[in-house]
Amino acid sequence: MPGTRRFEGPSDLHLHSVHSDGTESPAQVMAAAHRHGLRTVALTDHDTTSGWAEAAEASASLGMTLIPGMELSARHEWRSVHVLAYLVDPDDVALRAMTERIRASRLDRARLMADRIAQDYDLHWDDIVAQTNDGATVGRPHIADALVARGLVRDRAEAFASILSPGGDYYVALYAPDPVTAVELVTGAGGVAIIAHPAGRAGLLPMPLMERMLAAGLAGFELGHRENLDAAKRTLERLSADRDLIVTGSSDYHGLGKPNQPGENTTSDEMVARIIERATGIAPVLP
Ligand code: AMP
Ligand code: FE
Ligand code: FE
Ligand code: ZN
Repeated sequence: MPGTRRFEGPSDLHLHSVHSDGTESPAQVMAAAHRHGLRTVALTDHDTTSGWAEAAEASASLGMTLIPGMELSARHEWRSVHVLAYLVDPDDVALRAMTERIRASRLDRARLMADRIAQDYDLHWDDIVAQTNDGATVGRPHIADALVARGLVRDRAEAFASILSPGGDYYVALYAPDPVTAVELVTGAGGVAIIAHPAGRAGLLPMPLMERMLAAGLAGFELGHRENLDAAKRTLERLSADRDLIVTGSSDYHGLGKPNQPGENTTSDEMVARIIERATGIAPVLP
């Protein structure tokens, strides 16, 4: 059947563009993915679907399959939780309302952080605006780029380790839904919810919370990600095998914003097929 062949890998299901905190346009991201030999890719900008149309045109012209996606911000107590949302209906009213609310909060929060930073450093709101595409989901990476442009830090990594650190004086939290609500919104929009980088430095989410997320429709975990730590990852591997969950591997490419390269982790054809079968929101974009 011609349809199934197109889902052949290699597949990388987590890449960012200038519609959030990547440094390349969706078309440039698709070109980078293609150069790295990928055949199926997902664009997953933070809290927005605004890059999908350009990505779809570019991926199709390069002969790749696009799985439209999004990385939805959530929060559990003090820590941020990222929920990858694949094949959601972009017009779903509840999901749209939530992403609009998060993006508005991100803008307020970036201004507050800029005000705090301006008390000690020569950095102004205009510097941050200059680093952010019109309508993009604004985040600390844009503040980091402004700090780099001002010569105050060397790169994003140094900015995150110093001025932008959550423990520091300049940090302001953004509004985000709790992780169970985030999963409900994604599944309610017909999408497939996967926790991004679930075994990072912050440690695993508490098991009772993960159980509630699974009950809300959580489909699985992004186990192949450079930020995952081995011991916690093994715990989730066992859980995923026991419950027959979907597991993915992805780069979390951000252009020049991170060292991560397209295809450095990939998702198996079987898992891509399971994501597509499970989704009821929209279909992948075929070449
Ligand atoms: P925010 O959601 O605005 O708090 O910013 C978090 C975003 O910053 C994440 O999506 C990451 O992609 C990015 N980020 C976090 N740590 C780093 C780092 N050390 N270097 C570059 N980007 C980072
Ligand atoms: Fe990011
Ligand atoms: Fe993330
Ligand atoms: Zn990401």
